[in-house]
Amino acid sequence: MPLNLFIIGPSGCGKSTQAKLIADKYKLTHLSTGQLLRDEIAAGTGFGLEAKIYIDKGTWVPDDLVFDVLIAKLKTIDYQNFIIDGFPRVLNQGKIIEYFLKKQQQPFSLLVHLDVTFEEITKRREVKGDEFQDSQRTDNTPELILSRQKTYDDTITPIKEYFSEKKLLFEVDGNRPVEPIFDDIVKKIETIK
Ligand code: AMP
Repeated sequence: MPLNLFIIGPSGCGKSTQAKLIADKYKLTHLSTGQLLRDEIAAGTGFGLEAKIYIDKGTWVPDDLVFDVLIAKLKTIDYQNFIIDGFPRVLNQGKIIEYFLKKQQQPFSLLVHLDVTFEEITKRREVKGDEFQDSQRTDNTPELILSRQKTYDDTITPIKEYFSEKKLLFEVDGNRPVEPIFDDIVKKIETIK
């Protein structure tokens, strides 16, 4: 049975770190919609040019654009055995990918929500300083960080409600070190494999 995972959480919550560890352990392809969009920007494509407008404002990129970029990538791995980080950002994306995977006869295995408070994220940024900063990113100014957090707060609840009802949501307390968070996610994955 393929393992098709999603991991979401506020900006700076450590979802990429967890996604990489999970991808390594279960031999999954790690995809990040944020990174895919940054790759488009770096390549100077039309998608990239449009995406940049939203990323530079700290708001979400339109669903159809994100979806086009993501599906092109998923196609190269036969739509299976992946962990996608940073998607779905809005409920509509969740519903679309669920429908899409069904059509491909692929399971939507689990959505992991890494729950981290804004206070904890701010503390980590202060402690780590420059190390926290991804040199490829131009959107880590205090204003854009706050704007992303606001956008996130506005969109997360319906996603959680929808997938929780379908028993496809795993909430994990992300206000802890990397290892215990990873252990909890692994324990959960073992129950659905
Ligand atoms: P991230 O690397 O996940 O923090 O994403 C960086 C930026 O890319 C976000 O602030 C959004 O502007 C955009 N982005 C990433 N993933 C999505 C998504 N699933 N839907 C809309 N915008 C996204």
